[in-house]
Amino acid sequence: MRGSLRVGRVFGVPIFLHFTLLIIMLLFAYVFGFTSGSILGFELGYGQLSLDWPWLLLLGAIAAILFFASVLVHELAHSLYAIKRGYVISGITLFIFGGVSQIEKTPENAPGEGIMAFVGPLTSLIIGAVILPFYLVLESTSGNEALQALVITLSIISFYNLFLGAFNLIPAFPMDGGRVLRASLAKKMGFLRATEVAANIGRVLAVVMAIVGIFFSIFLAFVAIFIYIAAGEELRDTRVRVALKGLKAKDIMTSGASAVSAQDTVASVIAKMVSEKRTAFPVSDGQHVIGLITTSDVSRVPEKNRALMPVSKIMSSSPEGVSPETEAVDVLDKMSSSRVLNMPVMDNGNMVGFITQADIARVVQIAMETSRGKHPQTSTGTNKP
Ligand code: ZN
Repeated sequence: MRGSLRVGRVFGVPIFLHFTLLIIMLLFAYVFGFTSGSILGFELGYGQLSLDWPWLLLLGAIAAILFFASVLVHELAHSLYAIKRGYVISGITLFIFGGVSQIEKTPENAPGEGIMAFVGPLTSLIIGAVILPFYLVLESTSGNEALQALVITLSIISFYNLFLGAFNLIPAFPMDGGRVLRASLAKKMGFLRATEVAANIGRVLAVVMAIVGIFFSIFLAFVAIFIYIAAGEELRDTRVRVALKGLKAKDIMTSGASAVSAQDTVASVIAKMVSEKRTAFPVSDGQHVIGLITTSDVSRVPEKNRALMPVSKIMSSSPEGVSPETEAVDVLDKMSSSRVLNMPVMDNGNMVGFITQADIARVVQIAMETSRGKHPQTSTGTNKP
């Protein structure tokens, strides 16, 4: 995630903090420190204690840190199980809406996806359930402010872990429960259809949450927007992966485009794009292909500069490419992890073609249009527990 700071490793997994975490930590420290709400018998704030405000703020900050430590433990449960099953985890990021484990590589057939999704909420429920009796025993004793502060801390951590576990078991994307549901439905109806069901439940839930949020809690409304968008992204991502399954770089690449010269002007290349109806061309220095020029590159050049500027100034030079035999899904992962919009396809040092985002979008569109009404049986996919 952009805007994240790496703070260390836990069990070999790199941990990143996103800058939005600071905002939510301050908000939580304030809410925990200065309010005194209670839900289902759990005390959720220190506001009732007769302490000066710096003490309340300090207690609030401690509770906020413990809360996000709980989120981290939840994510670690996902990641450590995933690593055991052969997934490559590039890290865990904590951000405004919680935590996310980034999967860099999914092994063939995504083994144990359902269990991997389940261990996170299970861990949260266990933490909440283990702390609960300590809270219940201490709650009935009367003591000084320090003891009461401890009781409220136990209450907050127990409640939020139980909440985190229960909330994430909701069977809808992007919650963990959505992944558990998909894994169980995929056997019967296929991976893509199962993803659609779980994503649609997520969207309906988000709409309901947003409506409730408008009246009761603006934060809930924000969470609803996040859930709606994330459910759609999950579905889109799965559609792309299903469409690309079984295809190689050579199957989806654009080939046969004659190279333009590095000295050609931007204006002349735009004219060539229009007349040949292509969105990208290789750029040659006369002997070798040295880069790519795409519609998005030329669109960034102001109109008045196009007549004189050579394409060599604005082309994307991406000498490192993929082989024609590389799996199309791996090409996609490589493009998104290195944040490039196009990828040359190299064979023995020669560019034999290139793959643009537009190429991938076209393949996905064709696959979706030709499979309308029938749902391909496939069991591979992406996973962000
Ligand atoms: Zn989770």
